[in-house]
Amino acid sequence: MFFKSKEKKPISFEAVRAALSKIPDPPLGKDVVTLGAVKELKIQEDTVRFNLELASMGAQAEQIRAAAEREVKLVDGVKTVEVGVRPKAKPGKPASSPAAGAPKGSPAQRIDLPQVKNVIAVASGKGGVGKSTVTVNLALALAKTGAKVGLLDADIYGPSIPLMLGAKDAKPEQDAQQRVNPIVKGGIELMSMGFMVPDDRPVVWRGPMVHGALTQFMTQVNWGELDYLLIDMPPGTGDAQLTISQTAPLTGAIIVTTPQEVALIDARKGLQMFENVSVPILGVVENMAGFVCGSCEHVTPLFQQGGGQKMANEAEVPLLGSIPLDPRVAAGGDSGDPLVNSHPDSIPATVFTKVAEAILSQCEILNSQQGEKFKPLSLEW
Ligand code: ADP
Repeated sequence: MFFKSKEKKPISFEAVRAALSKIPDPPLGKDVVTLGAVKELKIQEDTVRFNLELASMGAQAEQIRAAAEREVKLVDGVKTVEVGVRPKAKPGKPASSPAAGAPKGSPAQRIDLPQVKNVIAVASGKGGVGKSTVTVNLALALAKTGAKVGLLDADIYGPSIPLMLGAKDAKPEQDAQQRVNPIVKGGIELMSMGFMVPDDRPVVWRGPMVHGALTQFMTQVNWGELDYLLIDMPPGTGDAQLTISQTAPLTGAIIVTTPQEVALIDARKGLQMFENVSVPILGVVENMAGFVCGSCEHVTPLFQQGGGQKMANEAEVPLLGSIPLDPRVAAGGDSGDPLVNSHPDSIPATVFTKVAEAILSQCEILNSQQGEKFKPLSLEW
């Protein structure tokens, strides 16, 4: 025989890598190969399969997936490309597992809240960065999407949620089983220490009492069927923060910071606390990033710029949004009519809405991953 059967050239691994190195993951500002986001890459005959572990979420993640598929299809010899996507955030502990980092001898169990789909802690390193303001506006923005939302004010020593949502004088009722019904305001279920003690009386409690109160807020309150329960954490990393991070069945946490370096130092500690107990960080919200002019809506930077992005990059999580200072945000908090309701078209309200949408898709990805809707590609094929 003079003719040898023509052997197919195998697909070059390097060519696939080169194709993928054209694809950036925008929140992290680098390409997916440099970021180590390409996982379980397998080449078999004319098929290439891999997963992408992305910081981008929702529609953006889908665009990256599609772009990766397109580029790899152009590689010599490739006929079929299968790409899976999963979030970069680390998966959280299962609801019933003992929390990591719990003190020896008293393993902290995660509380089960089966009627709540997603529990999200909103935390900051420092007080005064606008964490409660962000929490109430996010709660309203989430509710506007049709989601059922609850808000647990875990700031035992300085509860501000009742004032910010116009429920300062509300008094929760107990049912026959001594369980407490949450206050409902603007469609949002609320519980706060502010409902329990007069606001001119300071709460002087030691750690175990704070732990007990927070545990009761989770277990003894008649929370309804909720899509999202936001927990407004007290600032810092003390007893209350440990209780929540170790015992609440958290889907993830959001870190609120202002752009200045002094705020970022403390915010990093808050972020670390959640990472220590394997709670995924959904992203960073930068608040007070510039000032909105009341008449022309121009935003002027006040502090060093890019602080939130810097922190998000360091932690390899997305920057969910940058909210400027706007007097209407503060006025909305003081009057009990938050900006997302009172000025839905303002710049800060638009950012809150975007942050809420990012949280929706981030939680969706995390849940689908746990609920087996996302199947990481098998290495055994
Ligand atoms: P924290 O919960 O971090 O202690 P708060 O949410 O109580 O902070 O906010 C502190 C103060 O700053 C409040 O008076 C609030 O109205 C105001 N504030 C927060 N964010 C903004 C913003 N983007 N624009 C204007 N005022 C803000």
